[in-house]
Amino acid sequence: MIRDFREARREMVDRQLRRRGIRDERVLEAMDKIPREEFVPEDAAREAYRDDPIPIGYGQTISQPYMTALMAQELKLEGGETVLEVGAGSGYAAAVLGALAARVAALEIVPELAAAARANLRRSGLDGNVEIVEGDGSVGYAPLAPYDGISVAAGAPDIPEALLGQLADGGRMVIPVGDRLDQELRVLTKHGSNLRSRASTYCRFVPLRGGEGWR
Ligand code: SAH
Repeated sequence: MIRDFREARREMVDRQLRRRGIRDERVLEAMDKIPREEFVPEDAAREAYRDDPIPIGYGQTISQPYMTALMAQELKLEGGETVLEVGAGSGYAAAVLGALAARVAALEIVPELAAAARANLRRSGLDGNVEIVEGDGSVGYAPLAPYDGISVAAGAPDIPEALLGQLADGGRMVIPVGDRLDQELRVLTKHGSNLRSRASTYCRFVPLRGGEGWR
């Protein structure tokens, strides 16, 4: 079984990620190592490496592997960064970010999912530099701000001001912006008071809730 997962992981990295243009070797290496099967419900372990999002309960999903890889790649992490994730869900993307940066805070608004994400990370031995915080991440998380990278894993109606405020100078943020069903993944780069923004791809995330999310 363990060898099966390792093989499935390698296949995922080659077919779903490399072939579609994920080039950051550190991202590919992280996703080749992290046991994604530990982050999906037990009865979905065999589907863990499929090219799709997978339900994790409470109406939420663990993102498609390609989307997790793309978002991580867009942050251009080198290893020393402090990163905020909004929408920890299963904790998988937080684990990937933890392999790429120095420190990660991942906020999750559904208490049961926050607890599960914490357990998943601990079981996988990946909780050393990743902290799961239960709460509304649409308003950011002041204790570790400013962030060199912010990854928002839920679709926002607009770019939350609070998150822009917690982005470090030179920092990057990836965030799906659009309506409740379809969004555009935006990549923002902050240079002093200057904000650069470009569209990366179309995507479909669950809605961002909370103070700066959908009511
Ligand atoms: N990154 C996750 C997938 C996230 S799905 C993974 O790798 O598994 C989006 C998650 O965002 C859901 O779990 C949802 O509950 C959470 N969410 C939505 N709005 C939020 C908010 N304002 N603050 C924190 N989490 C939020």
